Amino acid sequence: MKVLIVGGVAGGMSAATRLRRLMEDAEIIVLEKGPYVSFANCGLPYFIAGEITTRDQLLLQTPESLKARFGLDVRPNQEVLAIHPEQKTVTIHRDSETYEESYDKLILAPGAKAIIPKIPGLDRATNCRQLRNVPDMDAILQKIDQHTRQAVVVGAGFIGLEMAESLKNRGLEVAVVEKASQVLPSMDEEMAAYVKNELIAKGIKVITGQSAVSFEEEGKKIRLEDDTVLDSDLTLLSIGVQPESRLAAEAGITTGIRGGILVDENYQTSQKDIYAVGDAIVTKQQLTGEDALISLASPANRQGRQVADVIAGLPRKNRGNIGTAILRVFGLTAAMTGLSEKAAVSAGLQPAVIHVSGKDHAGYYPGAKDLLLKLIFNKETGTLYGAQAVGQSGVDKRMDVLATAIKSGLTVADLAELELSYAPPFGSAKDPVNLIGYAALNLIEGISESIQWHELSAELAAGKQLLDVRNTAEMTGRFKNALHIPLNELRDRLTELDPTASYIVSCHSGLRSYLAERILKQSGYEAKNLDGAFALYQTVRPEEIIHVSLDHNA
Ligand code: FAD
Repeated sequence: MKVLIVGGVAGGMSAATRLRRLMEDAEIIVLEKGPYVSFANCGLPYFIAGEITTRDQLLLQTPESLKARFGLDVRPNQEVLAIHPEQKTVTIHRDSETYEESYDKLILAPGAKAIIPKIPGLDRATNCRQLRNVPDMDAILQKIDQHTRQAVVVGAGFIGLEMAESLKNRGLEVAVVEKASQVLPSMDEEMAAYVKNELIAKGIKVITGQSAVSFEEEGKKIRLEDDTVLDSDLTLLSIGVQPESRLAAEAGITTGIRGGILVDENYQTSQKDIYAVGDAIVTKQQLTGEDALISLASPANRQGRQVADVIAGLPRKNRGNIGTAILRVFGLTAAMTGLSEKAAVSAGLQPAVIHVSGKDHAGYYPGAKDLLLKLIFNKETGTLYGAQAVGQSGVDKRMDVLATAIKSGLTVADLAELELSYAPPFGSAKDPVNLIGYAALNLIEGISESIQWHELSAELAAGKQLLDVRNTAEMTGRFKNALHIPLNELRDRLTELDPTASYIVSCHSGLRSYLAERILKQSGYEAKNLDGAFALYQTVRPEEIIHVSLDHNA
C-alpha cells in the first residue's frame, strides 16, 4: 500500500509513525511544505522567551532520523498544490518544478493557519508577525534587537498570552489588545479576570474591548477603536486560526464550519481513500454533539494515530473532543476542560456552576498555594459539562482529573468518590476535586443554594440582604451595603437578623459563608451562598468594592 501524508507535524507524523508500526511493508511518503518536520510548535514561545535555549530541542526529528527509525520517505520543502481524487494522484511543488505522486490512501494533516484580519495599513506594516512554525519564530527573533522596545500583541488567546509573557521576559514593553471584553475569551469572565490581574501585575498593558482599526507609519503606530494610538516596534497578530482546507476544498472535498474539512467517525472525507485529521477537520464537541473546531495538540496526535489504525484495518472511531487546554501566564496557571459556562448556555444546556477555593497541597505543609476551581454541570442529572481552574500550582493535576472524569462520563457524585493520591506535600485528604464534588452535590441535594457573582446586584436590588461573615480583621475591602457579623458570632447574634428577610451570605472564599448559610437555614432563615464569595467578586468586579482602613473603621 502506498500512503501519502500532507503535513509533517503533529497529526501527519503521528499517522506516519503509527502506520509504520502497523504496516512494515507500506510505502509512506510525508510531504511538508515547510523546511522542518516534526517540530515542537507548542515550544516556540518558550524559545522566544529564552527558556528553551537550544534550537535543536524544538526539532524533534529530521527526515534522516525518520528514515532510519521508521523507514519513512519524508520530503520537506514540498508543497502539495492539488489533489486529483479520480486519478488518485497529487501535484507537488519542489524547488521550481512540480511533479505528480500517486496514492492508495491520502491523509490530509495540513493544520490551521493564522487569521490575518483585513485592517487598513496592515499590508504596509513591516513589523507584524504571526507564530505558527519555526520560520515564523525566526522572523520574530530577527525583529528583536537593541532598538526593539515596544511590542503589541493583538489577540489575547493562548498563543497571544504566551507570547506576551515571552516578549516581556525578553525585556520588551508589552501591550495586549483584545476585541472581546476579557482576555482568554474561551474562558469564563470571572476566571479570566485572574489572568488579566496577573498580566497587569507583571507589567503588561492589557486593553480589552478594543480592536485595532488601522496600522499607520508602516505599522509603527496602531490605532484602536477609541482612537488610542499604540507605538509598536514588533506586533504579533494572534487573533485565532482557521483550518488550512483550501487544498481539500479545491479537490471537491466537503467542508463545514469555518471551512473545516468534514470527516466521518473514521476520518474519511467525502472523497474515497482520502482521510483528514488535526486542526484542519471539523470534529464533534463530545458534550453537545455539535460540530466544532478544536485546535489542540493532543487531539491532533490522537487522530493521527487513529487514522493509521483505521487504514490498517483496526476498529477505531473518533469519539469527538471535549477540549482541554492549559496556559501559564507568568506565575499563574489557567486551565479549562469541556464546556465553559457561556458555551453551555449557548448550547441551551442551562448549566449550574460552583466555585471552590482550595490549596494545591495540605495547607499546613510549607508552600501551599491557592487554587480556584469552577465546575459546570447539570443540577438535575449531575452530568459534568466542564471545569476551569486558576492558581499558582497544582492546576494541571486537577484539570486532568476533571478532564478524565468528563471524558469518561462521570457525574458530580463520582467526583466526591474519587480516590486521589495524597500526602501533605502533594495534595489534601479532601482534594479540591473532591471538594467541588461535595459542593456540587450539596447544590443538587438542596443542602446549599447559591447565587453567582453576576447575579448579586440584581438580587440586592430585588430586596435581598447581603451578610458578610468574615472576621473584622479581613474587612479592609468591603461590599457596598452589607451587614457584617463574623461567623463565630453568628449563632449568638441571630436575633439581630430580620426573620422575614432573605439573606445572601459571603465570606472571603466561600467556605465560611456556606457554614453560615447552614446555620441560618437550620434556624429558619432564608439564605443563599454567594458562590466564590468576596475573593472572586473583588477580582471580577473591583470597581464595586469599597476599600477602608481598619484603624479608621475601628
Ligand atoms: P500542524 O501541526 O500545524 O501541522 C500541519 C503541517 O502541514 C504544517 O507544518 C504545514 O506547513 C503543513 N502543510 C499545510 N499545507 C500543506 C500542503 N499543501 N503541502 C504540504 N504541507 C502542508 N496545542 C496545545 O494543545 N497546547 C499548546 O501548548 C499549544 N501551543 C501552541 C503554540 C503555538 C505557537 C502553535 C502554533 C500551536 C500550539 N498548539 C498548542 C496547537 C497545536 O500545535 C496544533 O493543534 C497541532 O500542531 C495541530 O496539528 P496538525 O497536524 O493538525 O497541524
